[in-house]
Amino acid sequence: MVRDDCIFCKIANGVIPAAALYEDDDFKVILDAGPASKGHALILPKQHYQDLCELDEAVGTRVLGLAAKLGKAMKSGLGCAGFNLVQNNGEAAGQTVKHFHMHIIPRYEGGPEMVAWKPGSVDPEEAEQIVEEVTARM
Ligand code: AMP
Ligand code: ZN
Repeated sequence: MVRDDCIFCKIANGVIPAAALYEDDDFKVILDAGPASKGHALILPKQHYQDLCELDEAVGTRVLGLAAKLGKAMKSGLGCAGFNLVQNNGEAAGQTVKHFHMHIIPRYEGGPEMVAWKPGSVDPEEAEQIVEEVTARM
């Protein structure tokens, strides 16, 4: 399904033009309009899936391979030292565009810190409860 009220559906399907780093029958990869670093890209499926939980499994199995290919090309083409994959699901997680997308963020030597959190600690009882609650729903 393609939604005519979705900006990423429009970009992925050429209704709104965008320079593509990669394109095939299922995906378009574009540059992020508000890049975290030089070359920050977004993998967009051409079909509309709100997030990872809705993503078609067959389409989903291709995303990591595509990200690896792009990351490799960024390392040799842009000279980045590494890259982060970021994929937000839900507003609470920072998702602002409700069409599944995977960020590929090139990281350069000496570049700013971007994806970081302060490690907490694990309570063993709570860990046991978490395992129970999640495994029961898998
Ligand atoms: P997220 O917070 O994971 O939903 O990320 C949405 C990303 O889409 C942000 O990094 C935006 O800069 C980017 N973005 C929003 N609109 C456009 C657009 N028209 N073209 C390219 N990137 C966009
Ligand atoms: Zn869409």
